[in-house]
Amino acid sequence: MKIITTLAHLRSYLTTFDRPALVPTMGNLHDGHLSLVRRAKPLGDVLVTSIFVNRLQFLPHEDFDTYPRTFDADCAALQAAGCDVVFAPTEAELYPQPQSFKINPPAELTDLLEGHFRPGFFTGVCTVVMKLFACVQPRVAVFGQKDYQQLMVIRQMVQQFALPIDIIGGPTRRAADGLALSSRNNYLSAAERVEAVQLSQALQTMAGALKAGAVDVAALEQQAMAALSARGWQPDYLTLRRRADLQSPATVELATLLAQADLVLLGAAKLGQTRLIDNLEV
Ligand code: AMP
Repeated sequence: MKIITTLAHLRSYLTTFDRPALVPTMGNLHDGHLSLVRRAKPLGDVLVTSIFVNRLQFLPHEDFDTYPRTFDADCAALQAAGCDVVFAPTEAELYPQPQSFKINPPAELTDLLEGHFRPGFFTGVCTVVMKLFACVQPRVAVFGQKDYQQLMVIRQMVQQFALPIDIIGGPTRRAADGLALSSRNNYLSAAERVEAVQLSQALQTMAGALKAGAVDVAALEQQAMAALSARGWQPDYLTLRRRADLQSPATVELATLLAQADLVLLGAAKLGQTRLIDNLEV
């Protein structure tokens, strides 16, 4: 496995390949990331995993400085997973001058959910992903369904810019108790780690109620938020959305969308200082 830190080296190394596959990450790799690497491996003729903690997608009060950086362990795990190239540029390499050109995704995709609670987040994500696409020129890239809205935004970006890249979504990997794996789980205390599963449980409870015929979605969402709040969480949202556009379903279309499995439950909540997100297709 090659570890490459400069764009010039990456470009010269990749010239002999026709079909690079890319898995973009911010490092601190867990089995969720590695599952994407394994998914991507057979899809290209060389597999590149990028590791770059992207300052542009963090708000000023967020955890850019403390974000876990575990480069040596990441490389060992990537090698074992069959990765061919780790692209790990410095900030000066990826952003040699202030990145004043940015990709601004449209409001209808980003004024809601994560984009609402983290203004500018998707601009930072799209800008770095576009830049990584320019560096690696992949023919296929794999992203996690754990970041459900992000996957949708990137699919739209690729479609609207006619980029010749297949975007593949990989399923969310979970710990044995059901907690979605996340680098931010590292921030949880032992007690918080036990409690953290309640986010996915809350989504499961909502899914169960819907399948049992609940039709008052607003009440369902409020109950789920109240239940987490009562346990000491600070929920941002627990909500039922259409998979197609992440908008709220109308009551009249609920039964049809449910029958077609065209709905998704999405949740984001803070437990102590740690903000967790999860989702569940229904
Ligand atoms: P990150 O390093 O958090 O930027 O994530 C890099 C990629 O890994 C993104 O496409 C995420 O959606 C994906 N990812 C993160 N957690 C998981 C998980 N538990 N299962 C599958 N993919 C994940």
